[in-house]
Amino acid sequence: MKRVAVYCGSSSAVPAVFKAAATELGACLAFKGITVVYGGARIGLMGDVADAALASGGDVIGVIPQALMLDEVVHKGLTRLEVVGSMHERKARMLELADGVVAMPGGLGTLEELFEALTWAQLRVHAKPIGLLNVNGYFETLLSFLDDSVSTGFLLEQNRALLLDATTTESLLNRLLNAF
Ligand code: AMP
Repeated sequence: MKRVAVYCGSSSAVPAVFKAAATELGACLAFKGITVVYGGARIGLMGDVADAALASGGDVIGVIPQALMLDEVVHKGLTRLEVVGSMHERKARMLELADGVVAMPGGLGTLEELFEALTWAQLRVHAKPIGLLNVNGYFETLLSFLDDSVSTGFLLEQNRALLLDATTTESLLNRLLNAF
């Protein structure tokens, strides 16, 4: 696995445990020689992942829409920055560049990216492994919701299984590498 797309929060107003996890993920990917593909911002956990990967000697590719090319948002120290026309193009390009996906805690943007990757996997548009880093139990309710969705009949067990989750970076990356 050469490149992983990372989806995560753009907010910095979150407890330190999440920033620490973002830093650990960035460093861990760099140590494994895996390039980070992400949304190109310097804010929030996005910036923490990118900074940690770069500080550990890793490569980081940012994919950012023209509309977000603002000084307070864009990361100017990346290995490569691709500027695209829209949020839709950004999601498609990030997935195209990546061999797998990791979603970390985040808000609506993160959930949207995660669920698009899952929906496209369900439709066999791609077969890239998708991981969820469940830091500090943040995604517990989301995971139980998905289980309920299977029990209710809206989600097939085999599609529920497309989402690989783990509570630590190392175990999540191992699950992704085994599924690759
Ligand atoms: P959120 O989870 O709502 O903070 O959104 C973060 C996710 O959506 C990231 O993975 C980004 O790819 C994308 N995103 C949303 N807002 C921004 C922003 N202001 N700057 C850069 N990326 C963003």
